[in-house]
Amino acid sequence: KSDIVTRLLARLGLVRPKPVVTAVDGVSFTLERGRVLGVVGESGCGKSTLGRMIAGLLPPSEGEITLDQGDGEHRAMPMQMIFQDPFSSLNPRKRVRELVGEAPRVHRIVKPNELQSYVEQLMERCGIDPTVRDRYAHQFSGGQRQRIGIARALAVEPEILVADEAVSALDVSVQAQIINLFLDLRDEFGLTYVFISHDLGVIEHIADTILVMYLGRVVEHGPAEEVFAQPLHPYTRALIDGVPRLDRRRVTYEPIKGDIPSPINPPSGCHFHPRCPFAQPQCRQERPETRQVEGRQVACHLAEEIINQKEPTAWQAT
Ligand code: SF4
Ligand code: MG
Repeated sequence: KSDIVTRLLARLGLVRPKPVVTAVDGVSFTLERGRVLGVVGESGCGKSTLGRMIAGLLPPSEGEITLDQGDGEHRAMPMQMIFQDPFSSLNPRKRVRELVGEAPRVHRIVKPNELQSYVEQLMERCGIDPTVRDRYAHQFSGGQRQRIGIARALAVEPEILVADEAVSALDVSVQAQIINLFLDLRDEFGLTYVFISHDLGVIEHIADTILVMYLGRVVEHGPAEEVFAQPLHPYTRALIDGVPRLDRRRVTYEPIKGDIPSPINPPSGCHFHPRCPFAQPQCRQERPETRQVEGRQVACHLAEEIINQKEPTAWQAT
């Protein structure tokens, strides 16, 4: 068993046994067909883990993820994941036509004699000139590689695309082009997206609904426009006020009080209490249940009381 291998390697000093971390705890939501769910939170909040679970790459240890495919045809690979660096996820020894055509060939999504034109159409649809089909991925720019990655994901006719920081490595102008491509493809193919990003600007642009995670828990979930206009959870508020500079390249100070606690030993009660300017003694002891507040799901004991309150103290470096 892999357990034994891990223990053996640990004894050899090669691998340390992994502590048990609950990366995603009691997350429950419904994804509506044709909509874009934006998942936000600082690094280590569990958003990538949640994305991998939705994409079927990681089984949940408890609970389930159900895909209702309706009465339509059932697809071989209904979920696809798109990662930040398209180059690292594309085999450098394969030509673009192989990268895009491999899965539909293996899964017999198209007839062998139609494969080439299928691949060319997909490339064209994603903004890649099909005449470059014999080139290798490294011969393309970051934006083009992401287009190739999207064409490859679409080739298996998925219903859900999980994009994990898919535009984070791109220049702002290229980012906008790729986001527009995602939106056009959604309309054309009726796709559903889970868009994971630390960049709230990206999420605000693309998401219909947002899910805010903190240390593996959902702290707020609701219509993106409403959440951005009036965040109810203090953590969401801190994120949206732009207080924690999420873009590490621009960090000059740490305005949100304290560091992100370790997910191995998270704070008691409300995980956010050591950093929350509204925290009360109750917050240290009781875990806030997710409740309906203003038509949203919010996990904060004091959500109603603090809606229109300013922070009692400024967010400060400690
Ligand atoms: Fe802050 Fe308490 Fe709400 Fe947690 S439950 S976010 S500590 S006010
Ligand atoms: Mg991540």
